[in-house]
Amino acid sequence: MRISVIGAGIAGLTCALELAERGASVELLERAPRLDAAGCSWFAGGMLAPWCECENSGPLIAALGTESLAWWRAQFPGTIVNGTLVVAHARDTGELVQFGRRTTHFESVSGETIAALEPELAGRFAQGLYFREEGHLDPRAALAAVAGRLAERGVHVRFGTEVTVRPAARAVLDCTGLAARVRLDRPVRVLHPRHPLYVVPRGEGLFMVGATMIESDEGTRISARSMLELLSAAYALHPAFGEAQILEIGTGVRAAFPDNLPRLRQVGGVLHVNGLYRHGFLLAPALARRAADVLLEGRHYPEVMDEDPGERRLA
Ligand SMILES: Cc1cc2nc3c(=O)[nH]c(=O)nc-3n(C[C@H](O)[C@H](O)[C@H](O)COP(=O)(O)OP(=O)(O)OC[C@H]3O[C@@H](n4cnc5c(N)ncnc54)[C@H](O)[C@@H]3O)c2cc1C
Repeated sequence: MRISVIGAGIAGLTCALELAERGASVELLERAPRLDAAGCSWFAGGMLAPWCECENSGPLIAALGTESLAWWRAQFPGTIVNGTLVVAHARDTGELVQFGRRTTHFESVSGETIAALEPELAGRFAQGLYFREEGHLDPRAALAAVAGRLAERGVHVRFGTEVTVRPAARAVLDCTGLAARVRLDRPVRVLHPRHPLYVVPRGEGLFMVGATMIESDEGTRISARSMLELLSAAYALHPAFGEAQILEIGTGVRAAFPDNLPRLRQVGGVLHVNGLYRHGFLLAPALARRAADVLLEGRHYPEVMDEDPGERRLA
């Protein structure tokens, strides 16, 4: 089968790899000139957190996320599975209780355990939640690795190719989406009623600090207020962040449907893989597997396939 995949974000790359590995003839078309100039995937935190994400999503995200986490472990050596630590400052312990009520697969941990897991946080938090089985990865390295795997199979991303008309005589998969020294070894999420924060370690003193959740399709600039809130929250997590240098500030728009759940949608002969929202790396491998099943074997997945695409629009 000859298939055109449009968009080389994490959805397009994983779909293209799954299809190529299953014997399809794949081309991957990307309008940006390079991976680092492309979409939202470049700016992701890279947390693979199926159970933490249940704080504001449902069992479908946990199920697809668990499947994808196993895929990342098997396929990408840079996948680190040493858990997620969730903490809150003493005045915000109610947030911790709420988070625990909405999630599973964690153990409540004391200040001593927090100190044992993350010595730099010793004495700063009296209690927390530890999601031992969760993981994280560097999304930029992961994107490059998946692109590299595709190249080994002779599939090279065709950069600078903006698709405006559906490629003829091929099945089409649309994955266009809407981009001091403190040591931490795992993602840490700080709960707060207004300014929740996460910090994802990239190694060698580098951290990704995120992320605001503003309902907007303006994907190019960060507001001064968002920046101030993120940096203040990081500083409250650990004062050493006050001495950190900011190497990069970026924004990306997370494509989402109103219910924030992913969809495979058949529209006019094109299969759209979209709505990955906050979970692109967490869900992409599981969705890629399903997209390939739909295209290559005609299977149907009611939990992620729209019967009536007209009813749903990207938010
Ligand atoms: C700040 C931030 C933090 C995040 N943290 C996490 C996290 O920790 N864990 C996690 O799992 N997810 C996270 N996400 C979500 C994740 O990044 C997204 O869900 C994911 O990147 C969406 O991937 P995508 O491939 O659907 O879209 P994109 O990455 O946006 O890719 C779409 C691609 O399509 C291309 N394109 C668009 N139109 C065309 C066209 N007409 N022709 C050719 N090419 C086209 C674009 O250039 C782009 O490269 C985060 C997102 C943000 C913004």
